[in-house]
Amino acid sequence: MKVFRASAPFPREPAAELFRSLTLVTHAMMPIPTHLKDCVVPDDAAVDESPLAGTVRCPCGGERFDLLFPGQTHEWDKEVIPCTAEIEGRFFFLIRALCKKCGKSHLLLDIDFHGWNGLVCHNEEQSAHPRPPLVAWKCVNCGGSAHTARIEVAGEGKEDFISETDGEIDEDRWPDGFGWLTINIKCAGCGHTPKTWVSCETM
Ligand SMILES: [Zn+2]
Ligand SMILES: [Zn+2]
Repeated sequence: MKVFRASAPFPREPAAELFRSLTLVTHAMMPIPTHLKDCVVPDDAAVDESPLAGTVRCPCGGERFDLLFPGQTHEWDKEVIPCTAEIEGRFFFLIRALCKKCGKSHLLLDIDFHGWNGLVCHNEEQSAHPRPPLVAWKCVNCGGSAHTARIEVAGEGKEDFISETDGEIDEDRWPDGFGWLTINIKCAGCGHTPKTWVSCETM
């Protein structure tokens, strides 16, 4: 997100003065978690520890995807969205984006591997279990499967990661121990945009 901020509230010569005094205020973001590096383009290249926002884009340039999930849904805030799948007593939640242009599959989230619980509280037994079959999300309005997607990731920062992990995990991996991941989607066919499609706390 970029915000234009005028340094003077009332320029005397509006157009010219405003042009000179406009400062492009950019918002730095936390680094992209490792597993999203080849498929998420951040809104801003500057890096700090603020939440990351970016667009899902395949290395081929494609931005339309079939979004795959384990098939179980629930209603949240009057909208049907994917939920954690319970399969034979185990819980799974993962999302894949299948590029409509080149067919490449991008794993956007698997809670057994990504985020705080997936990395820091990693469960070998659960993560070794085969992943459940996935199905393509269908737009609740038109039934189409092609979507564009935006991702937001938030974490607690490097210092917190180092102190919470007692230095047992390389400190440069702090972005991989994120605490929250959100996926917002838009139907490529009809433009329908669920309020929040996936909002996953990972700690
Ligand atoms: Zn592609
Ligand atoms: Zn649609």
